Amino acid sequence: MTIYEEREVTRKERVPVRKVCDICGQESKQLRNISHNHNSWGNDSCDSYETIEICQKDECYLGAFKKFEESNNSKYDTAEFDGMEYSKLRILLCK
Ligand SMILES: [Zn+2]
Repeated sequence: MTIYEEREVTRKERVPVRKVCDICGQESKQLRNISHNHNSWGNDSCDSYETIEICQKDECYLGAFKKFEESNNSKYDTAEFDGMEYSKLRILLCK
């Protein structure tokens, strides 16, 4: 039998203190989550999800896209960036 009583407990927790853009490094009150994955079959499909937090600047969105293009995920025909098919984005970007 375990006997309990009320005691005041102090413990340390990781709490968010500020938000910083993963691309430009500047502090921002509101960050946007951008994720990409290869969206293909295989055990690593879930593991392929990568998410970064970026500020509202257009150049940071482009920076996130460049990071995606440099990643292994972009090598797949089924790759997705920010919920869009990379194969279609490539057409839009005339690549
Ligand atoms: Zn930024």
